[in-house]
Amino acid sequence: MPRSPDQIIRPEILALSAYHVPPASGMVKLDAMENPYSLPPELRNEIARLAADAPINRYPDARATTLKGALREALAIPDGMDIMLGNGSDEIIQIIALAFARPGAILMSVEPAFVMFRMIATFTGMDYAGVPLRADFSLDVDAMLAAIAKQQPAVIFIAYPNNPTGNLFDAGAVSRIIEAAPGVVVVDEAYHAFADASFMDKLVQYPNLLLMRTLSKLGLAGLRLGLLVGRPEWLSQLEKLRLPYNVGVVTQLIAERVLRYPGILLQQAEAIKAERTVISKRLMALDGIEVFPTNANFILFRVTQRYKAGEMFQELKKRGILIKSLDGSHPSLKNCLRVTVGTPAENAQFLEALQSSLKNPSD
Ligand SMILES: *Cc1c(COP(=O)(O)O)cnc(C)c1O
Repeated sequence: MPRSPDQIIRPEILALSAYHVPPASGMVKLDAMENPYSLPPELRNEIARLAADAPINRYPDARATTLKGALREALAIPDGMDIMLGNGSDEIIQIIALAFARPGAILMSVEPAFVMFRMIATFTGMDYAGVPLRADFSLDVDAMLAAIAKQQPAVIFIAYPNNPTGNLFDAGAVSRIIEAAPGVVVVDEAYHAFADASFMDKLVQYPNLLLMRTLSKLGLAGLRLGLLVGRPEWLSQLEKLRLPYNVGVVTQLIAERVLRYPGILLQQAEAIKAERTVISKRLMALDGIEVFPTNANFILFRVTQRYKAGEMFQELKKRGILIKSLDGSHPSLKNCLRVTVGTPAENAQFLEALQSSLKNPSD
């Protein structure tokens, strides 16, 4: 008899539960930090023509030279820095962890942070260390510095702004962490378009800094394109682990084309930021809701008083609104929910559903 999966598969994988993506068909989908807007019709027509002519019988350009050139310009990547592309930035996190996973090597982040940091540490056999944020979700620099001194992490991931909390850490605090780190610090700027802050210009200053971006939150989540920017001595090593054709022909063509019109996505980001202010204010005006400050395209809030986050999540779902409940994912996120900023109409629907759930808890 061949052995069963639980005799073959690594115990830490057997112990994992898979990343849960809830079905969203027919719902107002405000759970995944997607840009709610589509591209203008003319650009969509250009994309249709590109897709029609795309040489999909051929492997993609493994170096993605044209696309990287477009990214270099659009993102103002400093001279002397290399770019590595990923099938989403999730894949880049995985490549970094695979490369750094010497026996006993530690991947450090803050808690609560993006769950993939911890999950990918497990996937790749790294040890994970999570340093708690303060109660207001700001960086606890002293705790970080102490943990760094003690645990000597091979790599530290800091999302800037942070997910799921939405806040932007103090830049000076992040710099102190980079200066103290014995290994690499990856600043994950997935929400850069909504934040007006970046470590891009610090790459020149810090040899152990790598900077990650993605086009996902900007409006191209379906394309799957993330990038890592950093010094050639790091990126040339990481490139060895990148599967050669990880970014497909169609993704390369479309991303490059959309980047020719940077104004479109940036305008959408501005609209999202304006709506973020509207929703935050409306939420703050509600009894029984605590709203956290955000620099991202989502808002973290806590239900207080007699409501529980899980119930609120279900109430909203009944009313056709899908958001994310973070209750149970970390002690500091008790009764917290996260809503992605949608179109004005979607946001109004969300707020209306929330208000009627607050008034009529169905019990
Ligand atoms: C969404 C997100 C990512 C992953 O984005 P991709 O779609 O894989 O590019 C990475 N980091 C943070 C903090 C995120 O919120």
